[in-house]
Amino acid sequence: MRLQLIALFALLLATKISSAQDTAYARSIVNTLASDQYNGRGYVLNGCNRAGEFIAGEFEKLQLKKGNGESYFQPFTFPVNTFPGKMSVAINKHTLTPGADYIVSASCPSIKGTFSIVTINTSNFKSLPSVSNKIVLLDTLGSNGTMDKTFIKNFINDKNGARGFIFIEEKKLTWTVADVQSAPIIHILRNSIPSIPTKISINIKAELINYKANNIIGIIPGTLYPDSFLVITAHYDHLGMMGKKTIFPGANDNASGTAMMLNMAKYFTNINHSLPYSVAFIAFAGEEAGLLGSYYYTESPTIPLAKMKFLLNVDLMGTGDEGITVVNGSVYENDFNIIDSLNTKLHLLPKIGKRGKAHNSDHYYFTEKNVPSFFCYTLGGRTAYHDIYDISSTLPLTKFSEVFTLLKSFIEIKAIPINIPRPIK
Ligand SMILES: [Zn+2]
Repeated sequence: MRLQLIALFALLLATKISSAQDTAYARSIVNTLASDQYNGRGYVLNGCNRAGEFIAGEFEKLQLKKGNGESYFQPFTFPVNTFPGKMSVAINKHTLTPGADYIVSASCPSIKGTFSIVTINTSNFKSLPSVSNKIVLLDTLGSNGTMDKTFIKNFINDKNGARGFIFIEEKKLTWTVADVQSAPIIHILRNSIPSIPTKISINIKAELINYKANNIIGIIPGTLYPDSFLVITAHYDHLGMMGKKTIFPGANDNASGTAMMLNMAKYFTNINHSLPYSVAFIAFAGEEAGLLGSYYYTESPTIPLAKMKFLLNVDLMGTGDEGITVVNGSVYENDFNIIDSLNTKLHLLPKIGKRGKAHNSDHYYFTEKNVPSFFCYTLGGRTAYHDIYDISSTLPLTKFSEVFTLLKSFIEIKAIPINIPRPIK
């Protein structure tokens, strides 16, 4: 710790800490990746792979070395439930808007028809009405825990002849990705549902597919120790589309982190910013489907995991009004102290929080394989998350520049062996 701190302050004295990140470049990356052109970087219309090609094109422009033999791409395949076609829901003949009024569960299968709605709530769940061939609206408001999660889970599993389910959502709709199909469930905002719902017409087309996606890997070789690596990662996939018209753009999650990673690549390709250790950049796919790209990578690494000195994963880089949280900050205390000291010294962010281990982004499987890793995400500002409102035009990138300065300064410290002087530039 002490040695590292001395090295840190020596470095701060020896170098001008520039915030030479390119905001215009970051903004253009976010705008591009979150645009309709990439269809939410999911599975409908192959949005994910087209976004991957765009990122590989940026790596090429920056002249990064190809990270998987002769290629930037590392392909892998996984099952995923997709919604490539019809998506319509009407209650009492009133048509609802997908994404705004409702979402379907990620594991929803195809379903088509007009059905009666039977409501089950705290007043009647002990003497169940007949649900056969009906859509069951499970209303848990005011349940005081009497109609608990176990009841609901068992009820859905048993189905009792029901064709599908409606869940009422009070606050917001949050979508995900699933690798299976199970019971049809439609989540509807309370404000979007009539007070006495009786009939529902549904036409949902779902397709369980095997999707071949790619991790994108590029490298800046180190000047002195090219076999040792700092690794900067961000997932570029998002949720894609729910039907032919409804896009989940994922501007914050994680076009913003991809922009941060590309900005780092741009910065470190400048000859004046070259580092003794190599820096690898990995844009992961399959994160939203369960950290699948990073898991695949740790099972089939193109860079030996033992050669990774440190891995920094960035996700949700779009705000920062309330600072950042560092997942694994309380696992790697010395490294957290470096980031925290840098932040104090450079007056960058209001707060740097720390957490322990968490299975919540692509750093996770690296940590499990003993690669020291941090996952940083920004806090504060807007709340759009996994919904149709996570768009680039309202993503402020409030502290993007400060977070960039903080993280690249951290990388600069970690990419220099502690016992050698910083090379003269
Ligand atoms: Zn994410």
